[in-house]
This record gives sequence, C-alpha cells and structure tokens, in this order.
Amino acid sequence: MKKVAMMKMAVGGTVSCAAFMFAQAAFAAPCMKITLTGTQGGPPVFKGQAGAGTLVQYGDDSNKCGAVKLQFDAGRGTTQRISQVGVPVAKLNAVFLTHMHSDHTEGLTELMQLRWHFFSKGPKIDFVVSEDAKSPKGHVLSGRNFAKHIGDALIQSGEMAQRLAENSKRAPGGPADLINVIAFAPAADPSVVWSSGDIKVSAITSRHIPGHASYRVDTPAGSVVIGGDAGNDKAKPPRSSSTSEQVEKLANGVDVIVHSTIHPVMGPDKDSGFPPPIYFRQSTATDLGAMAKRVGAKHLMLTHLIPPMGAAKQGPYPIPGGALSEDSYKQSVTAGGFSGNAIVGTDLVTLQLPVK
Ligand SMILES: [Zn+2]
Repeated sequence: MKKVAMMKMAVGGTVSCAAFMFAQAAFAAPCMKITLTGTQGGPPVFKGQAGAGTLVQYGDDSNKCGAVKLQFDAGRGTTQRISQVGVPVAKLNAVFLTHMHSDHTEGLTELMQLRWHFFSKGPKIDFVVSEDAKSPKGHVLSGRNFAKHIGDALIQSGEMAQRLAENSKRAPGGPADLINVIAFAPAADPSVVWSSGDIKVSAITSRHIPGHASYRVDTPAGSVVIGGDAGNDKAKPPRSSSTSEQVEKLANGVDVIVHSTIHPVMGPDKDSGFPPPIYFRQSTATDLGAMAKRVGAKHLMLTHLIPPMGAAKQGPYPIPGGALSEDSYKQSVTAGGFSGNAIVGTDLVTLQLPVK
C-alpha cells in the first residue's frame, strides 16, 4: 500500500495508469512448463525414443511460459524433440548436465553444431556442469573438456574449414566458441549455480558416477528437481533406499520431481542378467514413490525408464515376465506410498505449473 501511495504522489494523480499497471501484472501470471525431451534409459535405443533430457521453461501468459528456456541433459535427439515444441536451439539460455555419460550428453554435439551454423553471432549458451572429477581408479570426468572439444570430429574432418571458407562470419573455433562454461563443485548441501531474474537453479552432489549432480529450479510459478541418474551413496544393499539422500534434501517441499527410474523387475533377484552394480546405482520406481511422498512433492515424473515401456529387452537383457506397461510403473510408485500425480514419462510429455 505504501508503494501505491508513493506512486500516486509521484505521478500526480494518474491513478488509472497505476491501476492499469497492476492489472497487467495480474494478467501476466507467472507459469512454468516442464517437458521431457527424451525418456530413453541408458545407451540403448527403442522405437525412436530420444535420450534423456528435460526442458524447463519459465515466463508468463504473454510469452506462453517461455521467456527463459533451460535444458537439463541433452541425450540423443534433443534437437529434434525441442523443435517439436517450437523451441529453436538458438533460444536456449543454458544447458545443465547431470553427468558425463553419453546418453545424457551426446545430443549436445548436434545441438551446438546447429547453433554454430546459423547463430554464430548470437549470445553464448551457458553450460553448467560439475568441475572435473577424478575417480578412485584415476580417470577424470570432465565437462570442461567435453565443451572444449565438442566440435572436434567435424574440425578434424576438414568440414569446418570448408564451411568457414564459404562464410567467414561464423565463429572460427567452431561450436566450442559459443559455449560459456560455468563449472561448479557439487557439495552435500544445495548451492545456487545459475540464476536469472526470479529463476534460481541450485545443485547438489549425488552418487552415480564421479561428478554427478542433481538440480532444482525455483520460480514464482513453482519448483522442480531434476535428479538425473542419482542413486544412494551406499553402492548396494543393505541400505535404507536406492534413492539419494542429497536429492531428498534438495527436493524438500518441491512441487515436481523428474527422476531417472529403474523398475524393480531388473533387480538381481529377478534373473534378468542385468549387471547388479548398474541396477544399484539407479533409483527404483518404488523408492522414488516413497521419496516423493516424504518430501511432499505433488508430481513425480519418471524418465530414463529402464526398461522402456513395451520393450522385451533392455539392451541385451530380457525383461523377466515380459514387457512392462505404464501400469507396471505406476503400481511400483504406488507401492512406495506416493498418492500424488505420477507421470510415467514418454517423449514430450509436459507438465505446466501452476496446474489449471
Ligand atoms: Zn543415464
């Protein structure tokens, strides 16, 4: 009220103008859209599913909730998928990677190449990733190197020199020139790694491979956690859950959880032959349901489904009891105690907040 009174004084009685501004603000209600750009779990491919990724858009009614566009992971086919929802690669503000596994990163190569072709003069894209992480065996997972060398194959083939020769206005170093690396050291407590206006993105460390991080986006329209492939810090049972305690901390009070998922049918007790260490480093649908309930989430979006719905195999591994359905996943989530909105992910499924 004080502010209104001051405005009235400042504008000398143009009350109708102030009222108009407030009416505009009321009309431009903030909103966000969460789109699964790919739901394939791991390196296999099944019936054209794109590799893992989540597009988070935020804005208001006047821009279809799309003033800011953030891509979390960019698996195979991300460029095609975002084109299907009308998002050109040039319009992405930032890409965030959960970890350096190809099923979460390989789509970024073609995405950046396309950006280089037509938008070399545009703004750089923020590339938010963990600092280099050394494994106990000595190998290093490096988002920095991934960004630096993203165009290398096409540079080495000679194509880039040829294209620059016919259009010298493009960035001379290839798509790497268009990436602004923002590397952070993921910690056991959430820390803000990116922000713009009233959007804030926080990250936390989580176990899967060295350098794995999970993210949370907070906006006035709602909040979402993108867990990635996070699993529990304890590499195998006995443990309280397959889910990550850090992700649970990050997800406290969140509206939506988007999380990679493995179905319990792939467990070592079911004889699929699926390697137990790979099973144990993912979160099961049942445990995700339990975690979503504990943190009070309203929506749980399962993605990166292992196995895909309808598939007879996960890569070379047969599914015990045959292909899984949407109900198979939903029942597994319900068994964890979650009674909110469970979405078993398919490519391009979208959730808008606030829910109308
Ligand atoms: Zn993965």
